[in-house]
Amino acid sequence: MPAFDPAHPVLDLSESSVVLTQQICDVESVSGNETLLADAIVAALEQQAPHLEIVRDGDTVVARTNLGRAQRVAIAGHIDTVPLNDNLPTRYETIDGVEYLWGRGTVDMKAGTAVQLKLAAELVNPEVDITWMWYDHEEVSNDLNGLTRLAANRPELFAADFAILGEPSNSQIEGGCNGNLRAEIRAYGLRAHSARGWVGDNAIHKAATILDTLAHYQAREVEVDGLVYREGLNAVGITGGVAGNVIPDEVMVHVNYRFAPSRSGEEAVAHIHELFPGFDIRIVDLAEGARPGLDAPLAQRFLAAVGGEPKPKYGWTDVARFSAMGVPAVNYGPGDPLKAHADDERVSLQQIRDCEAGLRAWLSGGDSPAAAG
Ligand SMILES: [Zn+2]
Repeated sequence: MPAFDPAHPVLDLSESSVVLTQQICDVESVSGNETLLADAIVAALEQQAPHLEIVRDGDTVVARTNLGRAQRVAIAGHIDTVPLNDNLPTRYETIDGVEYLWGRGTVDMKAGTAVQLKLAAELVNPEVDITWMWYDHEEVSNDLNGLTRLAANRPELFAADFAILGEPSNSQIEGGCNGNLRAEIRAYGLRAHSARGWVGDNAIHKAATILDTLAHYQAREVEVDGLVYREGLNAVGITGGVAGNVIPDEVMVHVNYRFAPSRSGEEAVAHIHELFPGFDIRIVDLAEGARPGLDAPLAQRFLAAVGGEPKPKYGWTDVARFSAMGVPAVNYGPGDPLKAHADDERVSLQQIRDCEAGLRAWLSGGDSPAAAG
């Protein structure tokens, strides 16, 4: 093979997942600039993975097995990164005896994508049908996200019994995510000159009741499919007041409620109404959480194959997109999420290998990890 040239990338999917990670990281693909990498992925799959049906939508590439298996799993990774900050090309480095690949995209999330590409080519006879998805524009607004576009153009491609997003999770399973609600809670009164305050009705004083409820609120820890989600209810802002000599007639407390995925958005709204009776409540943002779905038999086999203790995910990822479509989903990918988007972004080589071994063991049937391919 000639040396790899990032300007004219030719991917050999039989390379190790570490080498593939390095190669696809060196092909710069900041959001909006994914075409070269998407082209290379399609070319490699067409040549090296004839068992896959390939669909391309913009710079999103979908590759599917059609083996007539009883169940189907969607496995997805984005191919874009946040902007560079002098952190390409990649390089290998060893810190405290741990080997890393350093550079933009190594953690978020081209190591995960590289593992997926390798397995897509090698697992010709998986025990479930697989829909591999590599998509553009994850690191920017949701309306640009390749999966948003694909869901509009080809919703049938999302049909699956379980989904895995390869976002960095230290090669541990992170399931589901909390829902998120913001509400503006208002109390009203009557304006008056503060020199004759007794003829008015002070709205700001009524905020005390709202704040008291918040200060004494016992946030729940809720077990959902075996994972414990910690909720939170907090004031994140307060406004009110007219002038230094006016009894105020309105106060608004801005409240943020992070709720466990066992609770629907509607139930979260009802909970806010029950906590603050008599106040004017406006819901200004509401995103459903995502159940981890780890109680499904398919997921149980995944847990057994991968090992380790699954953890809840607190932030929102594309996992919630699958969940909203009725597909239970988890994050599972190499890299420390705390290094995502960092200037010293770097992924542990061992985590890349662990992630590959975990997915391979599960998809090829658990007890014969090397059998497929
Ligand atoms: Zn990411």
